[in-house]
Amino acid sequence: MVVPKPPTRQTLSYGTVHGPEFACLPLKICLGTYIEALEEGADLIVTTGGVGPCRAGLYATVQREILRSLGYEFEMIVLEPLRRHPARLLRAIHRLNAKRLPPWRLASEALLCWQKIQGIDRVQRELLRIRPREVRFGGADRIFRRGVRTIAEAPTRREAAKAVDEVLDAMGAVPIDSSRDPVRVGIVGEIYVLLEPASNLNIERILGELGVEVHRSIFLTNWTEENVVREGDNQTARDAAAPYLDEMIGGHGQDTVGHTVLYARQGLDGVIQMAPFTCIPEIVACSILPAVSKAEDIPVITFFFDEQTGEAGLRTRLEAFVDLLVRRRERRRSQEAVGAMG
Ligand code: SF4
Repeated sequence: MVVPKPPTRQTLSYGTVHGPEFACLPLKICLGTYIEALEEGADLIVTTGGVGPCRAGLYATVQREILRSLGYEFEMIVLEPLRRHPARLLRAIHRLNAKRLPPWRLASEALLCWQKIQGIDRVQRELLRIRPREVRFGGADRIFRRGVRTIAEAPTRREAAKAVDEVLDAMGAVPIDSSRDPVRVGIVGEIYVLLEPASNLNIERILGELGVEVHRSIFLTNWTEENVVREGDNQTARDAAAPYLDEMIGGHGQDTVGHTVLYARQGLDGVIQMAPFTCIPEIVACSILPAVSKAEDIPVITFFFDEQTGEAGLRTRLEAFVDLLVRRRERRRSQEAVGAMG
């Protein structure tokens, strides 16, 4: 196994140089990652396919052609959605099962993997809660980084569960200032930029440092349950989106609108939409969000990310947005206090 390294600026620059200029950011970062893995000796790439009105389903074909034109010799296996292409998926799994492990062993490995992902998601949620309350910022992040490695390396489900509990205990011991009352911001948008810190300049960490409690709408486990296990079954967000957008427009466009509505109704202070530059579903959602923001009374800001996005500009816009949310909340609370007295 050649486990790809976390993407860096260098990874993105490989993708930018060799990928089509108009392609969305995830295509470029993944292309760069493949180049790094091939340079390390990989000769088989496993990736996912996709269906629906979006470019993700074509990524693998485009990337394979680009890599071959660069002279790399390799095989590419594309894992297609289970419900639409079960035979293709089974063929791919059979091809990958080089040791010919029996099905029960494969199922057991898959369960171990799933349990680790669930554990990392739990730890991540806790990290988002602790960050804005930390007395000395950064301690929880260090525990998180070490913890993810320990969870990933656990050889059995029992040890994985133990590792998750230990990381949560260690995080629970991080000194926090419980008198703080952080503003709460929901993050919505396209899955790759939501989940991959390298693609969003670690926006969640910046927000935590600015004293914001982040609520992320997509985690790997909830997304997989809603879109792979019960394909297309994210009904709550889609119902909430329906008055504004009642069509599946590909990617996460409808979920972006729906989660914004839900966050407003849950009383969050603001919403940040994040998307790769040129992401079509998010451009559509972005054009609808001003109406949602007005009707549901919640401030929304949008960030499109590409290879040109710099941290200084991002931080400045975030600081201004957070400042606005804090003042807005103060104004509201004082109006409510006056109302209660009257
Ligand atoms: S959802 Fe957006 S970023 Fe993802 S493949 Fe589609 S267009 Fe590209």
